[in-house]
Amino acid sequence: MARLLLKNIEKKYRNGFHAVKNLNLEIEDKEFLVLVGPSGCGKSTSLRMIAGLEEITEGELYIGDKLVNNVAPKDRDIAMVFQNYALYPHISVYENMTFGLKLRKRSKDEINKRVNKAAKILGIEDLLDRKPKQLSGGQKQRVALGRAIVREPKVFLMDEPLSNLDAKLRVQMRAELSKLHQNLKTTFIYVTHDQTEAMTMGTRIVVMKDGVVQQVADPQTVYSNPANMFVGSFIGSPQMNFINCRIIKESNTIYAEFEGNKVSISDDKSKILEEDDYIGKDVVLGIRPEGISVKDDLSDKNVNSYIKANVEVAEMLGSETYLYLNVDGNNDSIIARVKPSTRVNIGENIDIELRADKIHIFDKESERALF
Ligand code: ATP
Repeated sequence: MARLLLKNIEKKYRNGFHAVKNLNLEIEDKEFLVLVGPSGCGKSTSLRMIAGLEEITEGELYIGDKLVNNVAPKDRDIAMVFQNYALYPHISVYENMTFGLKLRKRSKDEINKRVNKAAKILGIEDLLDRKPKQLSGGQKQRVALGRAIVREPKVFLMDEPLSNLDAKLRVQMRAELSKLHQNLKTTFIYVTHDQTEAMTMGTRIVVMKDGVVQQVADPQTVYSNPANMFVGSFIGSPQMNFINCRIIKESNTIYAEFEGNKVSISDDKSKILEEDDYIGKDVVLGIRPEGISVKDDLSDKNVNSYIKANVEVAEMLGSETYLYLNVDGNNDSIIARVKPSTRVNIGENIDIELRADKIHIFDKESERALF
């Protein structure tokens, strides 16, 4: 069982910098947990504390039922894969993979069995005699993974293991890591700044900012119900659009209003706004690019909620088109993700609809999501 428990973990570096603040996480056996956030948010520090490479300033870390704060890295039953594969250049792939095992005094037979099994899982059986310099980036990455696999650890820790690969290989390795996780049936904890990696591989995502966890949930929940504006903007590409609004009530209907535009709010969401006393208050409306309809996709029933927008740029990506729209009262362009068949001209004035079921409202001060 490789369940991990992080209780009230703090990290203060010697220079006084508070890199991780009150980190609480329960990581289930066989989970693929991804720590994601911008550079400097404390994700690597968190992983290194789990690995034992960084001292925990305060709090408790359990692997299984064992408190491991003071257990040496080599005795934690974990294997770590870094961004730079750090293979030994002068020895073969086989020897690179067995290096850690020899140190642990395993029998030759046992070592051979484990390497062959790992090589098969990773499809590198033909590369075992090569030296690292005879390998492509993706192959090196596989060897680095192989070296971790042969140790049969309870937990795999990975710190941006794909960031040295080119875009195509990254996509390929993403799928391979997911498969590997399914094959090995072990706990994976993975650090990345790339929200796509987090969304595609994680069974759960931990979004961090400034050393503080912002949200922990499965990818779909993080995407559809971001806990705050930061999560809404960090997860998803193109990012969520934000519009400063005021909540108003007219003839018993609640709207988000800006620059004379009145955006309908659905009944269930109106109830939340009313109960939480938001009528007359300034808020931030959030909407993902796919929550905006244009042209043929406008729905008749929302005709009073259409907003006038001017098309600044149309990015045609083949499977979809991104429209960059200028809307009065909003400094930033609003991005709509529309069907590739949508015909618009640059400079054209069009109606857009913010679909009621896709609208999020955030408190202006705390930036917390009301829905
Ligand atoms: P990146 O993606 O850039 O690696 P990260 O989220 O993994 O970012 P960390 O490496 O965990 O960030 O660092 C978190 C913060 O702690 C950063 O602001 C960093 O400058 C600071 N930090 C890291 N190591 C030390 C150190 N040894 N002493 C002081 N501050 C440090």
